[in-house]
Amino acid sequence: QLARTQKRFLHHLQSSHQRRQALKLDSRQLVMALHHRELTNFYQPKVSLRTGLWLGVECLVRWQHPELGMISPKQFVPLAEESNLITDITRQVIKQSIEDFHDWDPEQMPKISINLSMQDLTDVNFSDFLIQTTQMQHFSPRQITFEITESRLAKDLAPVLDILARLRLHRFKLSIDDFGTGHSSLLQLRDLPFDELKIDQGFVHDAHNEHRMNAIVKASIALAKHLEMESVAEGVETIEDWRNMQTLGADIAQGYFIAKPMPFAELENWHQQWRQR
Ligand code: C2E
Ligand code: CA
Ligand code: CA
Ligand code: CA
Repeated sequence: QLARTQKRFLHHLQSSHQRRQALKLDSRQLVMALHHRELTNFYQPKVSLRTGLWLGVECLVRWQHPELGMISPKQFVPLAEESNLITDITRQVIKQSIEDFHDWDPEQMPKISINLSMQDLTDVNFSDFLIQTTQMQHFSPRQITFEITESRLAKDLAPVLDILARLRLHRFKLSIDDFGTGHSSLLQLRDLPFDELKIDQGFVHDAHNEHRMNAIVKASIALAKHLEMESVAEGVETIEDWRNMQTLGADIAQGYFIAKPMPFAELENWHQQWRQR
């Protein structure tokens, strides 16, 4: 069991560099892609495990390359982080999501989750950009959640605390992503004002078959509850995963069982079908 879990994580981590080399992606191409607006947002629904209601979406960036086709963020986000292009990408992802949902019925407006990298949290103009962009579009910061990956966060906390606190002050929500794969100490969780805890999909899918993983999920949900955070189970791929997460008492589910990430144009259709299921 342990070996299987480890193998899964290794596969998850390995070869992003190799794949990039195979595709011959470099930062110049990425600059051009930004210019030519080849980056686009996909959206993946997050739904309540209790009511089944659609609560939010996570924005997942894609690179629609004219020759290579669709390129996964796993291949170009690391490159963008190394070459400092990520802050431009983040801003574009935010702008596009706000534009996309601008005309959505306010009564049915999902919460929007945005992935941040470490560079975004050391970008001193980031909170000004956010406040300007949301105000201009009459968008409430409460509608926006920022997901920060646990492993990225652990490295050096001091410089980002300021921006995190500032975001929180403006009522943006904060989420800790891929929980269980990093090394955040309980102390950090106590000190950082997170609203949501996303349990890494490596623990969620098939947890009912592997009691060690189930134990980790259970403990994570309990921790979230005690710290008054909402728990999100990522990687809910099957009806068994869904039922198991319900049983364990997670708040929200996200994963292929509910929907794969999709272009904005498909969301409305998905929602109709989800409501009638
Ligand atoms: P993440 O934030 O953990 O996002 C969840 C990933 O899991 C997404 O991969 C999603 O498509 C995938 N996923 C969702 N449900 C399932 C499921 O049921 N089973 C499986 N096996 N996978 C599922 P994606 O879109 O390829 O994104 C990969 C990573 O790239 C993200 O992981 C995130 O760390 C990063 N990323 C994506 N968009 C952005 C962005 O705009 N900015 C930054 N900084 N990073 C991003
Ligand atoms: Ca995420
Ligand atoms: Ca995640
Ligand atoms: Ca991840």
